[in-house]
Amino acid sequence: MAQKRDYYEVLGVDRKATAEDIKKAYRKLAIKFHPDKNPDDPTAEDKFKEAAEAYSILSDDAKRKRYDQFGHAGVGGGAGAGAGGFGGGFTMEDIFSQFGDIFGGGGSPFGDMFGGQGGGRRQRRGSDLRIKLKLDLNEVANGAEKKIKVKRHVTCETCGGNGAKNGTALTTCSTCQGNGQVRKVVNTMLGQMVSSSTCPTCNGDGKIITDRCDVCAGEGRLMQDDLITLNIPGGVGDGMQLSMSGKGNVPQRGGAPGDLLIVIEEEENEQLKRDGNNVVYDMHLSFVDAALGTSMEIPTIDGKARITVDPGTQAGKILRLKGKGIKDLNGYGRGDQLVHVNVWTPQQLSSEERSALETFRNSPNFQPKPGKNEKGFFDKMKDFFH
Ligand SMILES: [Zn+2]
Ligand SMILES: [Zn+2]
Repeated sequence: MAQKRDYYEVLGVDRKATAEDIKKAYRKLAIKFHPDKNPDDPTAEDKFKEAAEAYSILSDDAKRKRYDQFGHAGVGGGAGAGAGGFGGGFTMEDIFSQFGDIFGGGGSPFGDMFGGQGGGRRQRRGSDLRIKLKLDLNEVANGAEKKIKVKRHVTCETCGGNGAKNGTALTTCSTCQGNGQVRKVVNTMLGQMVSSSTCPTCNGDGKIITDRCDVCAGEGRLMQDDLITLNIPGGVGDGMQLSMSGKGNVPQRGGAPGDLLIVIEEEENEQLKRDGNNVVYDMHLSFVDAALGTSMEIPTIDGKARITVDPGTQAGKILRLKGKGIKDLNGYGRGDQLVHVNVWTPQQLSSEERSALETFRNSPNFQPKPGKNEKGFFDKMKDFFH
């Protein structure tokens, strides 16, 4: 059997260490060597127990005095006490029940600290809910307040969510002493092995309901249609996912609710097409309106708007309605509406119309004279994309 190490050495403190120093040193080691945190290191548990044993002596004034005077023999942990492991015969259960308070936790000293990894009861979290939300272009552009009905698990008001009749206190599970985990120490040829598993009596809750709440049958939650108001910001896009924390399902018998995930579906608009934060409208002018000028009503995100078409407007011209586009999701103003001018060339003509137009065929004003101001398609594209 290995020589027992000096307790001060184990905790890494000197012999004049204060009670507070000792507590701090132990806490550090316990966190470092906690078996749940070191599943692949078989020596971790031994170190964990060794630290616990050292702490059990040095944190007790009387025992510490005896140890200072007589060494290991003075505190009953002399040679030959116990086979393998540490003479003090510490089990994991002892450590948890005796020193749990050092970690400030309630019944489950390590549960909170090691979040997960079976170190005790865990805070349960309910499942997320996912819904699809259809928005029209106006709602996408301006943002919208939507009231929706969501079927979700909510806390049972009668028992306050704990599942016990009228919310009476639960009793601590006697199988696991509230840890939610059962540890078994098994002696094997390789030494003591500790296995831990979810407590079969309480399913890991650490608490037992003796008298169930009638309203929720002990579940602590009820399925309900919940009316939820969503404030959708302007500028969202198709397929974007927004989340509302805490508006998902409440878990069984208490815990944090999950989130409500909202997946945006953008309804297509027949006339206005979205291009980033801009909205594009294809306007069709008659040949005569393009030549003489006119005033026209066109659709915008916020309803109809009247625009003036100057005489001599060329096909392909793009008119910009500033600020008539989609709100920027990050708050950088809003996009524009781009009105793309198309000039409709008549495809059928009566003989009257034909002869009227014939009279203009050779008229000088009807001859194309593209000047500097008549930018070609590529120049126009360049204007919009830089
Ligand atoms: Zn209830
Ligand atoms: Zn239990």
